[in-house]
Amino acid sequence: MPDRSVGEVRREIDEIAEQSTPAITFSGGEPSLHKGLFELSSYAAESGNFETISLQTNAMAFRKKGMAGRMKDNGFTDVLVALHAHTAALSDFLTQTRGAWAQTIEGIHAIDAAGVPVSLNIVVNAFNFRRLPDYIEFVSERLPFVKAVTISVANPDGRARANPWIVPRYSEIAPLLVEAHTVCRDRGITSFNPDCGVPACFMGGVEFACSEFIRGTEGQLSKSDHNIIIETSGAHKTKSSVCSECIHDPICYGVWKAYADIYGVGELTPVKNDVASVPGTPQGEPPLGRPAHDARPTGQTVSVRISGTCNNGCVFCPEAGEMDGSFVARTEVEKEISEGRVNGADFLNLVGGEPAIHPDFFHFIRYAKSIGYKQVSVVTNGRMFSYRTFCREAADAGLDRASVSLHSHISHIHDGVTRVKNSFSQSVRGISNILNILGPQNIILKAKICDANAQTLHLSIPEFKKMGIDKIELW
Ligand code: SF4
Repeated sequence: MPDRSVGEVRREIDEIAEQSTPAITFSGGEPSLHKGLFELSSYAAESGNFETISLQTNAMAFRKKGMAGRMKDNGFTDVLVALHAHTAALSDFLTQTRGAWAQTIEGIHAIDAAGVPVSLNIVVNAFNFRRLPDYIEFVSERLPFVKAVTISVANPDGRARANPWIVPRYSEIAPLLVEAHTVCRDRGITSFNPDCGVPACFMGGVEFACSEFIRGTEGQLSKSDHNIIIETSGAHKTKSSVCSECIHDPICYGVWKAYADIYGVGELTPVKNDVASVPGTPQGEPPLGRPAHDARPTGQTVSVRISGTCNNGCVFCPEAGEMDGSFVARTEVEKEISEGRVNGADFLNLVGGEPAIHPDFFHFIRYAKSIGYKQVSVVTNGRMFSYRTFCREAADAGLDRASVSLHSHISHIHDGVTRVKNSFSQSVRGISNILNILGPQNIILKAKICDANAQTLHLSIPEFKKMGIDKIELW
């Protein structure tokens, strides 16, 4: 798409000024690539019509010497930076640009150093949503000058229309959204669930972040504003027949029609009790009673390391230094499992090397269930599960779910990463057995982004989906 001419944008700035709008935002593609950007922001500033002049950017250009200072000198009052992950690997995968994350982080620091306030925008999608609370922790600790985070959700539009699997189910991401907004509030970060976020019925306890409530509480919504929003957002959204029973119905626009085309509107649950939903009231805890396959179960989880050995030899193994070829003793593992329960954990995660090759693997699952754990899961490479009898016995012992590593849909790439010939075919058979025996809702496929798969991982995702995997996590 070609850049719009300076004259054309100037005319639009004049039109916006005529509507007595106090704020103007420069956006679209990457605005910092437009040669006339500073001329246009100066034009808006010199008109005296705007209280705030904002820029939406990936910030990469502002790492260059003097650029951030020019932004301030030319009228910009604040910047919203797109940052979609807290790790370089995941972010660069999502932007499909190697090195982009590091440049964005550098740009963010440069903008802050120039004295321009920075906010962040993350677009939550099928790959980054499980890391959302970690992202907020990262912002809080590594970018402490950031005062606001907008948490948007991928919409089946633009490039996502061709790849609808990148759009997460709202009901699946809701617990993570609630947790992220809660962490923001606790850390003093203002968070927003914008019109391109989720409806309020998914925001139990953190409705304060919903744009419709913010507009309402700040009294900003005039009748004409309301009409504009209906034209821009509302016209592309839809609701369910049950919405008429919801207390948010008068101010809520529902879900994107394109989202409903994929997932329907069956997830919408009318909110009938307004006690915790009144904007500005103290917020409650995240809702209880989620099904076992939710992204992050409510209640404490304890991870117990049971093995110091693995039947794969992954090139990037984060535990390589701790691998001593041993299994943790049965009594020691039992002690840790039992201590976790005494300390209030409801969920047990068996980890360490390859847990499924521990000779007491089934015993640990049975033991955990016998002392009251609601859910037992394992982080595995899936190879042992290629034996159907093994998978069946694990399920009979009480195993609820599994996170299985598969780093590519291409056998030689996966085998190259694991450094074990035919590990791919074994893991794929293991995944198939887990899907059949534990069910598709109880498996997460985990792929490590690395040099070997970086160029083909975008092709792997649809292939993983074809295998019947709903949940994929990149790390
Ligand atoms: S009106 Fe419908 S979409 Fe909106 S919050 Fe209520 S149930 Fe959800």
